[in-house]
Amino acid sequence: MIKPEVSIDRIPTGKLLMIHPPYVHFSSEVKHFIKDESPFLPLGPLYAGELLECMGVAEVEYFDCQLHDLRSKSDIDEYDSFGISVMGAQNIMPAFQIYSYLAEYVSPSKIYIGGQSVEKLTPDEFVKIFPGANQVSRASLPVDMDIVLSRQIDKLPEEELRTYLSDEVTLLLSQGCMYGCSFCGAQNRQVESFYNTKDNLEYLLGKAKEFGINRMSMYCTSLDFFQQALPGGNLNTLAGKLKEIIQLQEKYGIKLKLRALTRADSYNAAAESTEIWNLVKEAGFVKFGFGADGAASIEVLRAMRRGTTNLKSDIIKAFEHTQIHGFIPEMLYVFGIPEDTEETLCATKDFCSELLRKFPNSQYRGFPAKNEIPGNSNWKNEKWKQSSAYQQLLSNPILFLNLGFETLVNNISHPDQTKRKLVNRYAIEMSYIAHESGRVQSYLTVPIMETDGYELMDEKSFERFREIIKIYIPDISKSLTLRDLPVHRAEINRFIPKDR
Ligand code: SF4
Repeated sequence: MIKPEVSIDRIPTGKLLMIHPPYVHFSSEVKHFIKDESPFLPLGPLYAGELLECMGVAEVEYFDCQLHDLRSKSDIDEYDSFGISVMGAQNIMPAFQIYSYLAEYVSPSKIYIGGQSVEKLTPDEFVKIFPGANQVSRASLPVDMDIVLSRQIDKLPEEELRTYLSDEVTLLLSQGCMYGCSFCGAQNRQVESFYNTKDNLEYLLGKAKEFGINRMSMYCTSLDFFQQALPGGNLNTLAGKLKEIIQLQEKYGIKLKLRALTRADSYNAAAESTEIWNLVKEAGFVKFGFGADGAASIEVLRAMRRGTTNLKSDIIKAFEHTQIHGFIPEMLYVFGIPEDTEETLCATKDFCSELLRKFPNSQYRGFPAKNEIPGNSNWKNEKWKQSSAYQQLLSNPILFLNLGFETLVNNISHPDQTKRKLVNRYAIEMSYIAHESGRVQSYLTVPIMETDGYELMDEKSFERFREIIKIYIPDISKSLTLRDLPVHRAEINRFIPKDR
């Protein structure tokens, strides 16, 4: 029996194995190991590893469960401690599975778990999910935005690094967003702070050149890329970063294809500066993802606390600008919060369809809302803490899979069945429309059910959903019924493209 005790803000020491969990739908609920064909370079664990080594408290090794089966590692007992990093709420599920596996062989007191969603759990919540392990918060590590990850990346096997660099790589640019949208679990309500982009990018480009790679795709860490264009910001800081990116591409002869997330208001403010726009193009930006959540309804916009009432017109203005300048605009849209009604969901569908129609290169990235996730303001709500969904999550952490933004809404995220079916109806309808136009960037997955598929949707929605599944898994779709959806859930999710 594992002793339920927890130490907050303790850090792993000694010989440390830093483990990156697999993609949630490749985790061990599918019995055999699935190698991820498009793994990403896990910067979070590398960053934590570098900080710990700078402190002189640990010697870090890495294990990436995207590429290797942890069950094949035979020297688990040789480590003094284990680190598991967890980003989104749904990743608590694979982290829990890794924790459970390790706890069979080592004392849970040697296991340290941190990252965006785990550090926001209360100590009581953490101990219920990971009994005996240690909750690590970023506050327990020194803040160092200037850090360079070369020493840690050098520890990765060459073949692994080659694989990561051939796929899209995260570009350390900045963290923090000054807004506080109700559904958002990112590092918000914070002034933007900048990483050491130049030295980290230079190191990666040097490695890519060694491997003969001359084109790379990168995704910026910034939550709102153009936020320096808003009142109080300093666009020169962003201009400086863009100049560094341009110079390094020239130095290494590598062409970058970049994308970033932005609010429409900050994008439009930056659009006033010709200098920024020339730099953005020269740096290699091709795509911007715009938070359009709530744009179709002022009431929903207010309920989401998006910090604007002009989102619809701002989005249209920004999309027009992208069209003129040849960028791909993506509409990121979270919908299905408690304040949404059939009317607002219908308006959302109409607005997204209109954007797809009016802007022929635009792309749809829509997500059915998960209103309560660790780290967002709704998670702290007393009513939520009294709910049976909350209790179920803590007693069966596998259910955190149901909090993934890509998954259909379910009995954890939407206990009211009528509302759940309504939100899923629109989620499926919008996904279908975007699939038809070939401009979809978000892919609905199937959540864990209590009974069968009838708790998620009606037959009419299911027929549409089956059409979508057919694109990815034609064999299963033929005979799939709502009744046997739980039987095929894991397999379906495995073949649905990953959100990127
Ligand atoms: S959703 Fe976007 S704008 Fe809102 S708090 Fe999160 S990062 Fe900031």
